Amino acid sequence: MTIRESSGLKGAFATLARQTSTPVVVIVGGLIAALVMVGLCALVLYEGRLDALERARSTSGNLALIAERDIERNFELYELSLQAVVDGMNRNDVMALPPRLRNDVLFDRAANAKYLGSVLVLDEAGNIVMDSADVKPRRGSFADRPYFTVQRDHPETGLYISDPYASRLRGGAASIALSRRLSHPDGSFAGVVMIAVNLDYFRNLFAGLSLGTHGAVSLITQRGIMVMRQPYDTHIIGRDISQAETFRRFRAEPQGSFSETASIDGVRRLYYFRNFPSLPLVIMVAEAEQDVYADWRRRAITIGSLMAIFALVFVGLSVMLAAQLRLRIRAEAELAVLARTDALTGLHNRRSLGDILEDEWRRASRTHTPFALLFLDIDRFKAFNDAYGHQAGDAALASVAHCIADNIRRPADKAARYGGEEFVVLLPDTSPAGAALVAEKIRAAISELPIEHGGSEYRRLTASIGLAHWRPGDNADVSALMRAADDALYTAKARGRNVVVTAIALD
Ligand code: GH3
Ligand code: MG
Ligand code: MG
Repeated sequence: MTIRESSGLKGAFATLARQTSTPVVVIVGGLIAALVMVGLCALVLYEGRLDALERARSTSGNLALIAERDIERNFELYELSLQAVVDGMNRNDVMALPPRLRNDVLFDRAANAKYLGSVLVLDEAGNIVMDSADVKPRRGSFADRPYFTVQRDHPETGLYISDPYASRLRGGAASIALSRRLSHPDGSFAGVVMIAVNLDYFRNLFAGLSLGTHGAVSLITQRGIMVMRQPYDTHIIGRDISQAETFRRFRAEPQGSFSETASIDGVRRLYYFRNFPSLPLVIMVAEAEQDVYADWRRRAITIGSLMAIFALVFVGLSVMLAAQLRLRIRAEAELAVLARTDALTGLHNRRSLGDILEDEWRRASRTHTPFALLFLDIDRFKAFNDAYGHQAGDAALASVAHCIADNIRRPADKAARYGGEEFVVLLPDTSPAGAALVAEKIRAAISELPIEHGGSEYRRLTASIGLAHWRPGDNADVSALMRAADDALYTAKARGRNVVVTAIALD
């Protein structure tokens, strides 16, 4: 057992261990604070992302609504023009007018608007019989066109809107037609009146909508035929997408939005769609998510990286602070240990002994256990110093301290340097016989040290020990015990030194 261990400084080291938990708390606290900051930042960014999505959704909705209103208003006018022809043709007075006047009455001037083909009246065989462009109708049969056959075969159709086709009268211009059935008085098929709308109308309408770099807007008939798409591609016009999953979703509800990856280009888009309330058309506005989130992503990267750096710096500072704290706590604990330690021998010093005695006294009184106190004084030490020098004296003191420490074996036993060449040993929970044995062992060990002492009657270094014992029930206090041990030591000196003397009783 080393001096330091035996001298009972373990308590101080236990305190040290307890205190080292503070730096861990600083690090954990720093980590938690950093995590909370990062978490809050992530939450704010996430909400920003939801906002960006919501904004895109409402922008798409507004664009779709604007386009839908424009198309509906124009189609309403076309429909009115067709209806005017149907009504006029049912009036004999109108039909009896001279051809030019009749044309002026039948064909509204609105029908001359931009993007419109002429209004044509076809007979039951599909031939042009009246033409808004000229009193003398152009020649042509359209008996094969669906806007004709559907009206012929399905009298209940009402307004029919065709799929895109290449116009024969206008040099193949891509168009869709609106047609209405003409009936004889008996209800039988009398032909159709139709008006063609050049697809450039939709193309120009869509070109004015701002959709981001990868956005798209499409007009689709409810049968699933693509009428117009922006960005424009001739090959897509007229394509049947009725079997596509996206189109099915467009038809499932009057309007709505969803995100999906397009199989054509692998771009994930936010789709917004509206089914026209009064026309068999669907409008779809799609914004690429990369466009929707572009601004947000830029912001998120800047704020996220700054926050990450900040959090890392914060954690780094916590670690540094913890390291500094640990050093400081260790230094303070070491100082505290040093303050309680005798520098020369490594035993407790006198100040520490006072506390130890107090503690032991209280403990022994509480637990009703005996304890012993040894007072040890080196014999003829003044002469030793005089003969061998102060340094040799100090070395001898250290050797004596070793002898003491080596012979107290229990962790609770404590040894202190009381002053100069005097030592005190405290033996808790020890019987008088046990204490006498320990004292004798210490005395013998010192006398067996290979330290010559010419000025001593024993010719070597020796020490005298006074022993006092406290039993439960004794009235005496610590100072009485000390006095008794000191008296016993005095007796030992008187009896010729190098002996252990036990105090008979405490006064
Ligand atoms: P006795 O046998 O009666 O104890 O004789 P003694 O000479 O040892 O007398 P005393 O106990 O009064 O001894 C005190 C001497 O111990 C004084 C001094 O020379 C020496 N001494 C006290 N403290 C130290 C110390 O720290 N180092 C050294 N080297 N000597 C010390
Ligand atoms: Mg002395
Ligand atoms: Mg002495």
